[in-house]
Amino acid sequence: MNTPTLALRSHALALDDADPLKAIRHEFLRPRRADGSDVAYLCGHSLGLEPRRAVTYVNEELEEWQRLAVEGHFNGRRPWLSYHERLTPPLARLAGALPLEVVAMNSLTVNLHLLLVSFYRPAGNRRKLLIERPAFPSDRYAAVSQILAHGLDPADALLEIGPREGEDRIREEDVMLLLDREGEAIATVLLPGVQYLTGQRFDMQAITRAAQAKGCVVGFDLAHAIGNVPLSLHDWNVDFAVWCSYKYLNGGPGAIGGAFVHERHSRDETLPRFAGWWGHDKETRFRMGPDFQALPGAEGWQLSNPPILAMAPLLASLEIFDAAGNERRATKATQLTGYLEFLLREKLGQRLDILTPAARGSQVSFRVRAPSAVLKSLHGGLQTRGFYTDLREPDVLRATPVPLYNSYIEAWEFVAGLEALLTA
Ligand SMILES: *Cc1c(COP(=O)(O)O)cnc(C)c1O
Repeated sequence: MNTPTLALRSHALALDDADPLKAIRHEFLRPRRADGSDVAYLCGHSLGLEPRRAVTYVNEELEEWQRLAVEGHFNGRRPWLSYHERLTPPLARLAGALPLEVVAMNSLTVNLHLLLVSFYRPAGNRRKLLIERPAFPSDRYAAVSQILAHGLDPADALLEIGPREGEDRIREEDVMLLLDREGEAIATVLLPGVQYLTGQRFDMQAITRAAQAKGCVVGFDLAHAIGNVPLSLHDWNVDFAVWCSYKYLNGGPGAIGGAFVHERHSRDETLPRFAGWWGHDKETRFRMGPDFQALPGAEGWQLSNPPILAMAPLLASLEIFDAAGNERRATKATQLTGYLEFLLREKLGQRLDILTPAARGSQVSFRVRAPSAVLKSLHGGLQTRGFYTDLREPDVLRATPVPLYNSYIEAWEFVAGLEALLTA
């Protein structure tokens, strides 16, 4: 088939027709346009859509609370005492981890702090914490405040790697060179799995191997990676990882986050940690003894009795992930994202610079070459027409076709809508 045929609307419809995941779309609720049609929601990198069954699952817990009150901890459809354990197997499948290695708890930045307490342990000449220079602000705040908590000077202990002058993405070779040059001074490497702005996916396995060869501990922020790109945290030998669940995991606004701790550390009692009663041995927790005995694995980092109402939507979503299957989802993610990029290049190649490299998940970020007056009204113009994307000031648009709930025709219509606004 030649290029113009591929860019036809009828081709998008044919791709949807052949999509083995097309029915899964209806598992999600979404905003509508004034005419009743679904908006093209391309913002799953920011807040995933609401699973239809989340409504049921949340309501069921509200009912159990009424029906059973305190007995709901032990009785009912899904007893609250062990509710978080229902999230573990599907999270482990997405993380490429053993169930022992993952837990749903707290929120991302809290988990980052908890794991840095255990895995950033500067000593002697090995003091540095390596992060990326254009890091998500919360990650940088966490890193700097951890350094300060050790009584160190961030000017000395914070090491930042960024893109080269005039470039948008960090070159992996530069990460390797830095590790080679300064690895012995680095205590902990903390990098994203997928960069939030450019959508660049890092080679987590290669980075882990290179950094560990230098004696560093390696952690990843998977906010934009989990539920988006294939992960094999256990086999890659990553030391720790954290994530939030409201982006690709569709767990709802402010959903409960997650953490991974490699099996190697699962019974290490020499690790310092900030402890709470939910991380204490399950068998003796309710004896209310004075001395902390950590649960083995990631669960040992839990602090509190977890929020059932915040876990219910995530449970609903993880069931949909399991029904879709990691492989079918990954295949569609590659095809749908490739299709969106193809259309952007084909129809708007002269007006855009695509920032997202081929190593990526579902997100495509691009810089729009347009006068600032056009840019100012672009995002709003898209929104008004039912195309949900986000704008990073002044000129970067992020559009994410999520394989679970987006279609090829939405990608097609979005590009047509963007073209209409840019050529008006
Ligand atoms: C979304 C995101 C966060 C948000 O942190 P919360 O603690 O969940 O508010 C932090 N870091 C990165 C890289 C993110 O993408």
